[in-house]
Amino acid sequence: MTLENKIALSIDVEDWYHTPLVTGSPFAKYKNTQQFFEKWKGDYDMITTSTLRLLDLLDKQGITATFFILGDVVKRYKEIVEKLKNSSHEIACHGQDHQIALDPNSKKPLISVKDWMVEVKNSKALLEDTFQRPVIGYRAPGAYFGKWMVQGLETLGFSYDSSIAYNSFYNKTDCKLASVPTFPYRLNRDDLSSDNPNSNLVELPWSYLKLFNIRFPVGGAFFYRLLGNRYFKFALNSCLRKGDTMFYLHPYDLTAEKIPIGNLRSRPFFWINQGKTTEMRFEKLLISFKDSFTTCEEVYNRSVK
Ligand SMILES: [Zn+2]
Repeated sequence: MTLENKIALSIDVEDWYHTPLVTGSPFAKYKNTQQFFEKWKGDYDMITTSTLRLLDLLDKQGITATFFILGDVVKRYKEIVEKLKNSSHEIACHGQDHQIALDPNSKKPLISVKDWMVEVKNSKALLEDTFQRPVIGYRAPGAYFGKWMVQGLETLGFSYDSSIAYNSFYNKTDCKLASVPTFPYRLNRDDLSSDNPNSNLVELPWSYLKLFNIRFPVGGAFFYRLLGNRYFKFALNSCLRKGDTMFYLHPYDLTAEKIPIGNLRSRPFFWINQGKTTEMRFEKLLISFKDSFTTCEEVYNRSVK
């Protein structure tokens, strides 16, 4: 095993009603969180308990990770904010309330570049102000990433992005991805899959495993719940042999609660294997890769050395 290489461990902190099935996408039940809360008055916290459990698991193994946080989470989830404030985990930006910025079909922007810049700038500032530490990383909500975001992120002072998922099943970017590595590379604003030595923005791409000429996703979250540790250990080790790589999870992956609205039949398997099963698996994965897991910031720093 190549143990010197690292896995950027990232946790996307968002609640069930932020997911693109429920709000913030053209296929969502509600246009945005505001419309959701007009209809669903009350408290729908599915993530405080699981985020605290996640933090305990990380503490137990002495692992620091990166938390990609929504501005909306900062406003509504005080306990999560307090815990993270008193931790040494990295804080990174996941936008304001998880509105996806590209149309999944046409790949055209759903928002003007100017409005997108304002949203990302404000959520970065809110995080820096709340957590009193610099925020250098961005992950696009739903991982929908447009070429036009590269320049925007550079302008807003980000050092890295971690949104690009390259696999044989979907492409959530607005260009053809010819070939993306499983390790960090410098993002080219004209072609997201090619490395540009002059770029100031580093991409920490989502990992994948190439088997029989098919690239299977290794990013984490849903695929982790679906495919489990045996596949992920094999796949992560294979990525580690090539260089540093990335893994991600959501706190709601560890919750046993079921989403309270029933008509999300378009994704019948979306909530498979949540809860204790995933928590126990994840603890084992943390132990297996204890020396490899680290923050995105450290992986970024290693890539620019
Ligand atoms: Zn997200």
